[in-house]
Amino acid sequence: MSDGFTATNSFIKPIHKSFHRPNVNERRIINGSDESDVVQLSPMKHKFAWEAYLDANANHWLPTEISMQRDIELWKDPNGLTPDERHVFKRVMGFFTTGDSIVANNLVLAIYKHITSPECRMYLLRQAFEEAIHTHSYQYIVESLELDEGEIFNMYREVDSIMNKDNMLLKFSTGILDPHFSTKTEAGAKQFLENMIGFYVICEGLFFYTSFAVILSFQRQNKLVGAAEQIQYIMRDESMHMNFGIDMINTIKEENPELWTEELMTKTYAAVDKAVKLEVEFAHDCFPKGILGINSDLFTDYMQHIAGRRLERIGLTDVYKKENPFPWMSEAIDISKEKNFFETRVTEYQTGGTLDW
Ligand code: FE
Repeated sequence: MSDGFTATNSFIKPIHKSFHRPNVNERRIINGSDESDVVQLSPMKHKFAWEAYLDANANHWLPTEISMQRDIELWKDPNGLTPDERHVFKRVMGFFTTGDSIVANNLVLAIYKHITSPECRMYLLRQAFEEAIHTHSYQYIVESLELDEGEIFNMYREVDSIMNKDNMLLKFSTGILDPHFSTKTEAGAKQFLENMIGFYVICEGLFFYTSFAVILSFQRQNKLVGAAEQIQYIMRDESMHMNFGIDMINTIKEENPELWTEELMTKTYAAVDKAVKLEVEFAHDCFPKGILGINSDLFTDYMQHIAGRRLERIGLTDVYKKENPFPWMSEAIDISKEKNFFETRVTEYQTGGTLDW
């Protein structure tokens, strides 16, 4: 008999009375138990996700806790920054203001419903919140410095090097957003794995790094320190997002070894290589002449260096074998070693998780 409501969403299944209790071996990141509509954390299989969730909570922060006063004074001072420095700062803000929101949309609108591990869903919820905090942070910086919002927030449409990166990311979501998409077919599951690689390896692991380098370069010169402090918190969060994503990718591969074919590996190498080129293009756009002690040509080596590290983390080969030309980046990202660097709260937080570089 109808209860007056019509179930039109076949994804959510009704609860049927049963005395079958889930076995830990039935837990899978994709294509797991149909009980995924109810988040039951026990029995827990993917402990890395729960650990990441706890660590992320221990690292909680909000942008408005950080003073922008010194940044505001510097930005208003006509001699405070050179035109090139202002250009590069605005350009990275142009990318930042889109990057985290694309990730959040992918999490909430595309991948969440296909993840059947309750503890991974718990982390995804936390990650989605962090992406919102990051978007809030960029808004707070733009507002504080009274930047031209029209200029910053439309850059992703008006500047090719930002548009090309964003378009590459959006392509990874497109197929998953199709209402008929399913991970139950091998082709669907492979497409899902490609999405994970696109967002967790390429976006979280490569596409933020020119912008991080820019902000840290300002910080090394004691400029824009409020913005830099926020970006350092963001780097820590993004580093955890990447580590969590890589754990998910590797676990999906273990649980579904048939997906990790030569063809998918070849596609991964090609996608990472394209991402490196797009990120180098963006770096050239940011540093037309080389400022802040950064020569844009070194960015090719730098991006290839970190791309090699990322490839190794998902079981592939570092095809680039480049030394890190910016060792200060790896020092700065490892906040746990930055004792009293800012003399602010940053070192008082738990660092949580491995900030793998
Ligand atoms: Fe992120």
